[in-house]
Amino acid sequence: MEELVKTQLDSIESEGISPYCAEIGATGSTGLSGQKPCYRPSREEAEAAVKTLLSWAGDNPDREGLRDTPKRVVKAYEEYFQGYEKNIGELLGRVFSEVENYNDIVLVRDISFTSHCEHHVAPFLGKAHIAYYPSNGVVGLSKLARLVDAYAHRLQTQETMTAQIMQALVSHLKPRGVAVMLEAEHMCMSMRGIKKQGSITSTVQFAGLFENNPEQQARFYTLLRGAR
Ligand SMILES: [Zn+2]
Repeated sequence: MEELVKTQLDSIESEGISPYCAEIGATGSTGLSGQKPCYRPSREEAEAAVKTLLSWAGDNPDREGLRDTPKRVVKAYEEYFQGYEKNIGELLGRVFSEVENYNDIVLVRDISFTSHCEHHVAPFLGKAHIAYYPSNGVVGLSKLARLVDAYAHRLQTQETMTAQIMQALVSHLKPRGVAVMLEAEHMCMSMRGIKKQGSITSTVQFAGLFENNPEQQARFYTLLRGAR
């Protein structure tokens, strides 16, 4: 039985197509020499790459303290970037239509997230605020948090992540309007480069009722400030 499970896992890994390519429907060469964008290296190859970076940084990857670091880093990567494995449609799948005719704004504030920027693979940490006006029903509140996590656990910019969350809600929930705001501190700004700590980047995207509607946007900001 164990052998069977292992064989199945091996066959999935040996396909060597990255989840990113699987999602956008692209296929690529499976072979390290090609280094095509869709090629997904094995765990061993990923660990070897971490070892190379450790040597390049100037340390000895074979010393005791670093010996298991490549394994740990790859495991951490698995966790940081598990969003590639998430199917957004499935995640938002179920809409609750019996909500006693509730059709006003739904706002979930302060959904904390941790992500990594695609330029430096440096963490950025912050909060997401999501509001929407339901049309055919509402989605479970925890689904909104899961949606934020699914995109946060991928490589992108904060701007892209804001647009992705909005777009996912527009296409899967078909609400009358969506507002998404992210506020985050970027380690690539506080630990490297300009080295400024504590600055917060805000990004906002509006769709439907909120778009080009200062009154609705003001309502969103007022509700956000509400209990602060
Ligand atoms: Zn960055």
